Amino acid sequence: MQRLAAACEAIAGTTKKLLKTGIVADYLKSRTTDEAAVSAVFLSGRAFPAWEETTLQVGGRSLWQIVAELSGSDEGELTATYRRHGDLGAVAGEVLSERAGQGLGVLDVEATFRQIAAARGPSAKAAIVRDLISRATPLEAKYIVKIITGDLRIGLKESLVEEAIARAYGGTPADVQRANMLVGDISEALRLASEGRLAEAAMRMFHPLGFMLASPIESAEEGLSYFAEAAVEDKYDGIRAQAHVANGEVKFFSRTRDEITESFPELPDALAGLPQDAILDGEIVAWDYPAGRARPFSVLQQRLGRKRVSDKMLRETPVAFLVFDVLYAGRELVMDRPLRERARILDELLTTPRKTLNHRGHGGSQRRAPVQGALAFDAEQHAEERIAEASIIRAPVFRASSPEELEELFAAAQERGNEGLMIKDIDSPYTPGKRGKSWLKMKRELATLDVVVTAVEYGHGKRVGVLSDYTFAVWDGERLVNIGKAYSGLTDGEIAEMTQWFLDHTLEDQGFRRMVEPKIVLEVAFNNMMQSDRHESGYALRFPRIVRLRPDKSAEEADTIERAREIFEKQQA
Ligand code: AMP
Repeated sequence: MQRLAAACEAIAGTTKKLLKTGIVADYLKSRTTDEAAVSAVFLSGRAFPAWEETTLQVGGRSLWQIVAELSGSDEGELTATYRRHGDLGAVAGEVLSERAGQGLGVLDVEATFRQIAAARGPSAKAAIVRDLISRATPLEAKYIVKIITGDLRIGLKESLVEEAIARAYGGTPADVQRANMLVGDISEALRLASEGRLAEAAMRMFHPLGFMLASPIESAEEGLSYFAEAAVEDKYDGIRAQAHVANGEVKFFSRTRDEITESFPELPDALAGLPQDAILDGEIVAWDYPAGRARPFSVLQQRLGRKRVSDKMLRETPVAFLVFDVLYAGRELVMDRPLRERARILDELLTTPRKTLNHRGHGGSQRRAPVQGALAFDAEQHAEERIAEASIIRAPVFRASSPEELEELFAAAQERGNEGLMIKDIDSPYTPGKRGKSWLKMKRELATLDVVVTAVEYGHGKRVGVLSDYTFAVWDGERLVNIGKAYSGLTDGEIAEMTQWFLDHTLEDQGFRRMVEPKIVLEVAFNNMMQSDRHESGYALRFPRIVRLRPDKSAEEADTIERAREIFEKQQA
């Protein structure tokens, strides 16, 4: 682990990508394949391979206490050090002291991470973490803490680790990247590369792939300026979901790659009968079945994050899965095919009659019953099947070749209660995890920013005693820079829930305010943007208001300073 940590220090010390990949490649080559495989996962900022659902679940507060305890530093010292680094790993590296006999192997660390993941309850986890850190050198501790918090902050993206694997073992970076995407495990990709078997990587179902993202546009003209032929769909206001269907089993994943199948028991069965195994991309929305249209996001919110969904909720707030893309079908990864072909494959998939559904009473069901509650009559069962079938809807695709047509579609989409439009390049491949100009989004707000909450304060008036004032930031490269502060927009219930979360995830209590783990994403609207030195970003927002929480987005997906600059410049023009 010491050598891995030393390599990380060297990587952090240069901004040159080629140098970074060179350091990683040299390090990997100097290790056994087992050690290199585990290291590749750590270097991607993870404790476990991406496809695994295993998580450490060690909170920032708990880590903070462990570092304080082992270093013997008091709260003030630690806070001062934290303020200098803004990163708990760096703090650990500085305040912990060297003792004889310390030092760990990467395989040791990996095995201990598995113990932490398996331990139940915060105190059992903390005991193992404490023991691990006490056995580590300060430099090792620095990177162990960083891996636990999920962010190395050394300017090393997973794509650079992929490049380094190609450099160390042969194969092209594209081959390594493809293998990593298919198996969802960079350690497995490394093993395949080391054996010259990258071409044999096969799709591992039920690990979520990256989602293709869209860039915002400000006008209809801009919407048609990047490509020749546009496919236009309504922008539904729900949550993005990727459905994996294989051998009659179905799972849904959110954009943060969490499995969300349980929250939507009415969806899996309709997909289980697809004629082929497939990975589909779409949006889950609250659906008004009689009217055949989406209901507002606030309605869907009642369905989110539930493990158990009551019959009443299923009846009163049914959802539908609006499918707009296909990534994998019939043993073939189709992401590289142009949208026009994927659309055809998707149409075919969804119109071919489904196989018999895995309903209760039909025998051979691999999943639990899709809809809860006892069914007395066959007639009801049929009704249930019909709803399940109807809940998978191919998102309608329109064409527009002039800004006027686009404006018309936009108005019609809003008329249907949708957020706006998605404008897609019909010749573009599906690029997971990338925000390019092949998918464009046209929304109603002048502009909103997705921001990360970095600090919170207690409110005033009726908000005394709850953490309701949020300072938020956007990304400037690898750093978060504050851009504003907002007080209003959330409901009392949401504020109460967030207060508890922030109390549990405080990094530093400064009395009047708390620095918190930068994990919560908000969508904020504002009237306009000003240049200002009030915040680190150099911008400030006028009349900022919280539009909503974005639990479906991870902090990494929040907006960047470039995006803020773009909005600022557009508004000046
Ligand atoms: P935003 O969340 O504002 O960045 O907008 C992008 C999101 O719009 C996607 O991640 C999807 O969740 C959602 N969306 C709604 N309808 C569509 C659609 N037809 N195509 C792609 N994304 C859509």
